[in-house]
Amino acid sequence: MPTSDPLIYLDNNATTAIDPRVVTAMVEVWNSGPLNASSQHSAGRQARMMLDQALRNVATSLGADIVTTGGDRLVLTSGGTEANNLVFDHSLPESLPRLVSRVEHPSVLEAAQRRIANGLPTGWIEVDANGLVDLEQFEAQLAALCRDDASKQNAKEKHPARGLVSLIGANNETGVLQPLESIAEICHRHGVWLHSDVTQWIGKLPFDFRASGCDAVTFAAHKFHGPVGIGGLLLRPHVHVTPALVGGGQQLATRPGTEPVALAVGMARALELALERLPQHASHMQMLRDRFETGITTALPGTTVHAAGAPRLPNTTNLSFPEIDRQTLLIRLDRARIACSTGSACSSGSSQPSHVLAAMGVPIDRIESSLRFGVSRLSTASEIELAIERISSCCNKLRND
Ligand code: PLP
Repeated sequence: MPTSDPLIYLDNNATTAIDPRVVTAMVEVWNSGPLNASSQHSAGRQARMMLDQALRNVATSLGADIVTTGGDRLVLTSGGTEANNLVFDHSLPESLPRLVSRVEHPSVLEAAQRRIANGLPTGWIEVDANGLVDLEQFEAQLAALCRDDASKQNAKEKHPARGLVSLIGANNETGVLQPLESIAEICHRHGVWLHSDVTQWIGKLPFDFRASGCDAVTFAAHKFHGPVGIGGLLLRPHVHVTPALVGGGQQLATRPGTEPVALAVGMARALELALERLPQHASHMQMLRDRFETGITTALPGTTVHAAGAPRLPNTTNLSFPEIDRQTLLIRLDRARIACSTGSACSSGSSQPSHVLAAMGVPIDRIESSLRFGVSRLSTASEIELAIERISSCCNKLRND
């Protein structure tokens, strides 16, 4: 395959191409002069206005109210990883328990593992073969948690919550969507807060923070055709995070450091563009993803779709190609100008088997032959047809080698 062929980019869960209109919006801000929203002079006040407007637009588009005094809060972060770490470690005293699903992004998973290593109360939420949380089992687990240490500890800490559940809303490896409203209702019945990482959800399906019932959610702009390096943590009024950093009073000292005004404006513009025609974008992505799955499973009998029976994001598919090693296939596909992934971007390049598929009980040989593909609103039908052809050809060659 000549390397000058255009790349067919099917790794949109790792990151997305920035929309040129977002670039234009950011360049305008950068060109408008020095921008420190904490400065007291007129340039600073101008920066503050731009920043506040961007924050309001983002929050309102996601169903949060940051305008009313005592309302929700939006903390800007460098992206999903920082937001997840911040809320997970800094919204409750460390002695209060955390419950975390086995299918979290590494930024939550490893924070949970660190707590376990430090002897702090931390439990795992199991998922079924489709990657979904079993609500009955979950409720029983929460009830047990609240009967025991958590209540005593919580009384000692005088904290309004008994613990924190962190559950990824839309899985980055499989696209599986958890029933957040039901989970939130169960959590609240037991006095526990719910944080959800909805980094993959935003821009692909409608999301309403307040209606979701979540106490906190995480997101990142580069997943919806915005800039890399900015994301956010939405917090309900009762959730307070203590800073992980010191050295400045910005963002009510929750996350000190000069705010990136142009990135915030870029994120707001990207979200506006993503939501403008969301139903059309979602059905376009789903049509392409479904065609991709049918095309591949027809051309390559034996190929299976993980979590096919679960509600999923419209853009994501995770396929197992029996008897083919995922790393080898990924490299062959890269040479064939197709970009995809072995799992979350953070673990690409390593050979760690997917913890998400393992938690779903997928046998190791299937995990070792699985790749993730994700389309975006910019993907086209002809790209999908070409991808089906090239993937089938690569697999057939590998099987005959
Ligand atoms: N959470 C999820 C679900 C993700 O998919 C990602 C990125 O892959 C992250 C968090 C981390 O986001 P960032 O790379 O912006 O730190």
